[in-house]
Amino acid sequence: MELELWEKAHAEAFLNIKESLPKVRGMFVAYNSNIDAIKHITEGDIAKLIKLVDLNEIQQKVASYPREIQTPVDFLARLIIAMRDGKAAEVPTYTSDIHEWLMDNLVFDKARMGGQAGIISNHLVHLGIRKVITYVPWLSSEQAEYFSKSKNLVHPVIKDDVLLLKHPTEAYNPKFKPRVNWIIEFSKGMKVKYGCEQFEVPRDNRLIISSRPPWIRIDMPRKLYDQLPKLQEDVDGAILAGYQMIRENYEDGTTYHEYIGRAVNVIERLKEGNSDIRIHVEFTSISNKVIRKAILKDIVCRHVHSLGLDTVEVANALNVIGFEELAYSVIDKDEKAIVALYEGAVRLLHELKLERVHVHSLGFYICVISKDHPLGLEGHKKALLFASTLAATQASLGDIHSIDDVAKGLEVPVSRKGYEELEILGKYLVRRDICSMEEFEDGCISTPTHDVVIIPTKIVDDPVATVGIGDAISAGAFVAMLAEMK
Ligand code: ADP
Repeated sequence: MELELWEKAHAEAFLNIKESLPKVRGMFVAYNSNIDAIKHITEGDIAKLIKLVDLNEIQQKVASYPREIQTPVDFLARLIIAMRDGKAAEVPTYTSDIHEWLMDNLVFDKARMGGQAGIISNHLVHLGIRKVITYVPWLSSEQAEYFSKSKNLVHPVIKDDVLLLKHPTEAYNPKFKPRVNWIIEFSKGMKVKYGCEQFEVPRDNRLIISSRPPWIRIDMPRKLYDQLPKLQEDVDGAILAGYQMIRENYEDGTTYHEYIGRAVNVIERLKEGNSDIRIHVEFTSISNKVIRKAILKDIVCRHVHSLGLDTVEVANALNVIGFEELAYSVIDKDEKAIVALYEGAVRLLHELKLERVHVHSLGFYICVISKDHPLGLEGHKKALLFASTLAATQASLGDIHSIDDVAKGLEVPVSRKGYEELEILGKYLVRRDICSMEEFEDGCISTPTHDVVIIPTKIVDDPVATVGIGDAISAGAFVAMLAEMK
């Protein structure tokens, strides 16, 4: 299909999905939301912070590469490394000390909703979904303020053993403290000097300090858990994210096994109320391989229907489920990486016994679907095209306030680079007799063991923001799929 036809397909899919979205009764979304405190750091800020600590200690820490932020020196070392390499990084911190130090010595420029579940909840409400039931185990009064003010966005509360659905601003626990992640953005060309070391930042990027205080648990009060099946009248699907917060060991002697078990129980309870419910898990980077593997093998496998992830996350997932070589090929700079990506998505579908694996990359999406999925391939294709328009809108506007805003994304052209990259995959699939060139060009492929939808996507050259686009893509495609299933 020529590029102009893909443009047309995007426009048609948008109108179609816009019409079918109101059929979705609602979505349950859990677990992670936090407040993102964003600071665009300057050369002056860095020089000031470095003066506050011991220079030798920074040099030692830059060499030893701290994997956790305990002190201001750890923070500065990881910031210097990220700036020196121009690479994005996310480092956990387990106390609130560094937050307080940053508040005293740096102060943020702006704050906004963060965390996959929080971002997705707001997105869905803005798209006009009738009911979004968001659940945050650590909902504080500060956090509640970052949720959309819509009455369609609610949080479960148990009062006198009765399940109530209230807006987060009426549902928070006053005893909870806010969870704040710091996002330190830096720009290409900034000059950094510490001691006799000096460098220039090669690329715009960001360092995220992810706050994981000990009270953060992926959990649910027993009474709420018992009443989950009652949500059946209100939801057709659930989007679950934040499992990366699970730790191997806790101070009270519990281990990740306990929390993995509870996470699975929540899914089972949701299914109890509605056997047609579809469960989507949004994956993310998880450096701890024990946890990464447990999430995939024990939560996702057999319990979940749909998995959303980017290319690096496909490699990370393959790596812990026994496909190391394929994982390396996925992140290889070689042009065959796209073939490995497709093969990797197929492995994930089969190994994890999923119904759907949606991989998003810059310029194209690949969605591998099980043969027994009730929705036809055209429906899946429309859902992906809708998500591509949604991503383009998010990148152009920075935020989406209503479904009508999404029309803005239609003005963004489909990426020629993505389209050309897909040709490599097309040739491979045709050579292997997996499909004909016509089928590939149409984007819908049926094989004896699985189906596939592959589309080139719209890319904004100069995005106003990039955070959360992946979440918008996965949630948008999943809810559009539910709408098409109605
Ligand atoms: P995040 O977690 O910050 O959302 P991800 O890696 O999960 O990051 O998702 C990023 C996705 O967003 C990419 O895979 C790509 O599909 C999409 N994307 C990134 N930049 C743009 C852009 N400028 N225009 C359109 N889509 C974009």
